[in-house]
Amino acid sequence: MKKFRKPRCPFCGNKIGLANTWALKTQGEYLCPKCGGISNIVMDRLIYLFAFLAILVSAVFFAVGFLGFLSLDIWLLLLVLLPFLLFYLISVFLVRLKKPAVRKRRAPPGGRPQNGTRRGPGPGTGPAARRR
Ligand SMILES: [Zn+2]
Repeated sequence: MKKFRKPRCPFCGNKIGLANTWALKTQGEYLCPKCGGISNIVMDRLIYLFAFLAILVSAVFFAVGFLGFLSLDIWLLLLVLLPFLLFYLISVFLVRLKKPAVRKRRAPPGGRPQNGTRRGPGPGTGPAARRR
């Protein structure tokens, strides 16, 4: 599946190892050691689906055990925990790096340095209309 891939730097394409990805999940942004680019860390939307499935599957295991089809012992506990374990493992592959939104520099309102592209009161209105 194409969805499952290691995250890579959006600036230089440098792949990030799984161990690093694991650490990344707890942070908000990633500083690429190669190009020094800072990218935002986001989780793929698929994570919600897997979270749902993990809860569902473990609930089923629990229900099955509770109803007596399985003996309530350590193995059942493991079965209930297994979906969550898988979820944690899968979540590593759902870490995405995105370029932070480029913020265009806004000229402070009022004094615009560029000539010619002056907006604001058009000719004939306001103080810009000079008398000749
Ligand atoms: Zn990079």
